[in-house]
Amino acid sequence: MNDIKLALLGSEGAGKSAVLVRFLTKRFIGEYASNTNSLYQKRLSIDGRQLNLEVFDPCSQSGESRCILEEPLDWADGFVVVYTISDRTSFLNAKNILAQIKESRRETCKGEVPICLVGNKQDLCHSRQVSEEEGRSLAQENKCIFQEVSAAENYLEISNLFTKLIRHVMEQLKHR
Ligand code: GDP
Ligand code: MG
Repeated sequence: MNDIKLALLGSEGAGKSAVLVRFLTKRFIGEYASNTNSLYQKRLSIDGRQLNLEVFDPCSQSGESRCILEEPLDWADGFVVVYTISDRTSFLNAKNILAQIKESRRETCKGEVPICLVGNKQDLCHSRQVSEEEGRSLAQENKCIFQEVSAAENYLEISNLFTKLIRHVMEQLKHR
């Protein structure tokens, strides 16, 4: 059985927990206890392989970002970086987080770090502050998988995104 460890990163309120819980339960649950770090586990099968997925969903990283970031950075095999398309600040924060992941992995990691960049709250496109194009080009610069999603309205895109990321992680783990 393969162990796969993912960490969610992004501004407080970007929808990290909503995206993750949507993936794990297929449901949208609007609010979570946002003051605790959570570790979720799920058994799943991808391409006929049994996996033990562990996902770290940290509480707020804004402000004192660095010290909270370091732990998941060392631990995780792959990352889901979430911003909100209607909140430019969360996009800039995602940009910083991608830079920090790169920096921290430079010495340790041989291949690419599997990351997906997620523009969440696509249903709020009437108050969009970040274009899809900006998201896509940030992802390209950092060699990330990219997708805009709505945790509130959609399951399939989120599920496909996690599947892609997990495949990428399995590829990388093979080479270690
Ligand atoms: P986190 O701090 O990044 O874990 O963010 P949460 O998952 O707690 O979500 C923050 C707020 O955004 C909550 O009130 C959610 O209900 C809301 N939210 C999350 N995803 C979406 C979405 O796709 N669309 C909309 N409209 N609201 C969302
Ligand atoms: Mg949360």
